[in-house]
Amino acid sequence: MSIGRAPSSCGGGGGGANLRGPSCQSCGILIMRADEFGRDKTGVIRTEYCRYCYDRGVFTEPDLTVEQMIENLAKTIMTSRRNMTIEDAREKAKEQITGLRRWTAK
Ligand SMILES: [Zn+2]
Repeated sequence: MSIGRAPSSCGGGGGGANLRGPSCQSCGILIMRADEFGRDKTGVIRTEYCRYCYDRGVFTEPDLTVEQMIENLAKTIMTSRRNMTIEDAREKAKEQITGLRRWTAK
């Protein structure tokens, strides 16, 4: 497997919907390395989740709510985008999280 994508964080140019590479369907982070994928009980890689969210066949935080996940992501966005307000970060996080499979599937 090859994920031929260098982590480039070119700033300016504005946001917009950019679909890049595999991203975790729980927290939305980009998964850049094979060892960052989650695994099921038998150790088989699950490409839809990262290992921080999903490990050995279960979610690491099964009781986490979508609101908490949005808040977590908003804080992460804040740390990398210093000129962004928490409201903007929450808005962006919400957009990203609510479309993910973990939160849309019942
Ligand atoms: Zn994740």
